[in-house]
Amino acid sequence: MSIDTNLDPWALREDFPILARQVHEQPLIYLDNAATTQKPQPVIEALNHYYRDYNANIHRGLHQLAELATEAYEGARVKLQHYIHAASHKEMIFVRGTTEAINLVAQTWGRTHLRAGDEVLVSMMEHHANIVPWQLLRDQLGIQIKVIPVNALGELDLDAYQQMFTPQTRLVAVTHVSNALGTINPVREMTAIAHDFNVPILVDGAQAVPHLQVDVQALDCDFYAFSGHKMYGPTGIGILYAKQALLEQMPPWQGGGEMIKQVSFAQTTYADLPHRFEAGTPAIAQAIGLGVAADYLTHVGLENIQAWEHELLTYATEQMSAIEGLRIIGQAPNKAGVISFVMQDVHAQDLGLLLDQLGIAIRTGHHCAMPVLHHFGVNATARASFALYNTFEEIDALVAGIHKVRQMMS
Ligand code: PLP
Repeated sequence: MSIDTNLDPWALREDFPILARQVHEQPLIYLDNAATTQKPQPVIEALNHYYRDYNANIHRGLHQLAELATEAYEGARVKLQHYIHAASHKEMIFVRGTTEAINLVAQTWGRTHLRAGDEVLVSMMEHHANIVPWQLLRDQLGIQIKVIPVNALGELDLDAYQQMFTPQTRLVAVTHVSNALGTINPVREMTAIAHDFNVPILVDGAQAVPHLQVDVQALDCDFYAFSGHKMYGPTGIGILYAKQALLEQMPPWQGGGEMIKQVSFAQTTYADLPHRFEAGTPAIAQAIGLGVAADYLTHVGLENIQAWEHELLTYATEQMSAIEGLRIIGQAPNKAGVISFVMQDVHAQDLGLLLDQLGIAIRTGHHCAMPVLHHFGVNATARASFALYNTFEEIDALVAGIHKVRQMMS
């Protein structure tokens, strides 16, 4: 096997204390990275450091701790701006995660710009987080949801996509990388097509930001949403990126402290961007931790990570395809490190439970993407998903584990 990457997973594993632990008296093999990634020491230390040394509320205090906390929080915003190459820190809204980001867009931009009969295009392979917010809006406003189809390999049908635009189409909402199939969608091309019809596009980047170099200006997308915990950062924090011109036209979402300039009972004026969309005390430590996660990924190098994970994916696909009765769901040529599979005569849940006994953590179930699983005729798959710290040896252990389970079940 040829490895042309500068990444040394064994050295990087040292940064992740949890990888040294055992599960059921076996070394942990963590292959559930699409659900959430493990955290490197610098991220854990950033959380500790904040709570230990300068815990304070931000923006409102003149005392030293408040200044330090504000500086670190706003500094994290700028780090993330650079991470996705946004034009301005004003375009970076801290939210709880991808789910909240998409709900924010639906309830502010959507409620302002959409009317009964307007159409939102989503794809067949969306996570529920990019389906249900539009269904809530459908119930509230009477909009239509149209579904971009996928082909047998699990790729979006771009010809069909292009033909779906009508004078009523108002938004495209599509995932960059599918969590259930691994497919990397051509979002740059899809953005160009949407813009030809004067339609803005929202990209769900939850599964892209840990694996690919994302450049929102090069993509030219209008909204980009992602979660910190899937890119080695803390839970409870994420980003909604939106072009400044769009944010300027959007009414605030939640009201409260931090998002105002002046309040009186007669009239309230709102804060400038980005704070207008960050009501209440935010997740300060988590935002700071996410900034450190972005630094960590940049230091390792997204190109190195992508190359390494591609090696892992290629190797795992070869090894697993050779297992009798195993079917991989999602075989697009352009894939991130996700292998979703089903096995003849072995239920995904049994496989997950038995692999856990061997210390191997995978995910089983519908992966919050029921429509696309049903499209492929299954209710559940087992899913192994890779991160920068995974190794070929771990894939060998997974393959051996699957063989063992097959023997036990036959
Ligand atoms: N979109 C995709 C593609 C995902 O994989 C996930 C999480 O699995 C989400 C959205 C939701 O992310 P969160 O639960 O962090 O809001």
